[in-house]
Amino acid sequence: MADAALVRVIADFEARQRRNRLAQEKRFSHAVSLCPALAELENERLSLLFGPGADDAQATGDALKELYVKRAGLLESAGLPKDYLEMAYRCPDCRDTGFVGNPVKTRCACFVRRLNEERYAPNDKEILKNQSFENFDLGVFPNEIPPGSKTPQREYMRQLRDICLEYAKEFPENEKPNLLFYGNTGLGKTYLLNCITGCLLNRSFNVLRFTAFSLGEFCLQKHLGAGTDLSPLYGADLLVCDDLGSEPLYNNVTVEYFVSLFNERLLRAKHTIVATNLFPHEIQERYGERMVSRLLDAAHTRRFHLRGCDIRKY
Ligand SMILES: [Zn+2]
Repeated sequence: MADAALVRVIADFEARQRRNRLAQEKRFSHAVSLCPALAELENERLSLLFGPGADDAQATGDALKELYVKRAGLLESAGLPKDYLEMAYRCPDCRDTGFVGNPVKTRCACFVRRLNEERYAPNDKEILKNQSFENFDLGVFPNEIPPGSKTPQREYMRQLRDICLEYAKEFPENEKPNLLFYGNTGLGKTYLLNCITGCLLNRSFNVLRFTAFSLGEFCLQKHLGAGTDLSPLYGADLLVCDDLGSEPLYNNVTVEYFVSLFNERLLRAKHTIVATNLFPHEIQERYGERMVSRLLDAAHTRRFHLRGCDIRKY
């Protein structure tokens, strides 16, 4: 979680603003080449905005309104869209500055999202594009009933896919905020996590997705006083933790931080999804009762036991 990410994102936003301006200037030149009267109108606009009469907000506003109507007419008769000369922003909320609010400025949600991406998941985009609900292929799951189950593996995965899709659609108004997927490797847990993550990122939620291994590393760094900022983990709309149990347990560090993280997220009504190869009794053995009561608590968590054949063997 180095500041290098912050520097990159700020540079990116500044570059975006420059690109917006250049693009607008280019559109202006093109429009003037088709309709020279627009240049005159632009001079008029600037003198209204910055000239001697600009202090009279009412009069200036009225005159500008009139001018914009005239401009739209000229643009249309030149065969251009009415809003051709307006600045085009990727984020209308902050106009690509990364800040919202006046006079107190705070980071725009688009900035926070971009920063989290840069910090935590720079390489995930390609995977998330491929591993989506749209591409979910039930055909890879065998049609047999796995031992201990009543439902064929494929049918169970169909139900699970629909539940996850529903979860992503209802988010954040879910009846239970947390999901836990457990079962052996190769049953599709990570794929499901990716589907939900991608869907919610597309819906512009602040989603962080990590392996438990990385989470453990962040906590250890924090514990060692490396200046690591864990607050994004606490504040994200959704925290997705894959492969719980694969991380090394550092004495009095990993479990303490994990319990505090999951607990705090529950208190803040933030959603958490965990996938693990551990069975509930193994979670209990490895992390203790306090972790179990946060992770497996039936009031807040829906849990799903995936059974069957490792589909990667097919
Ligand atoms: Zn924004």
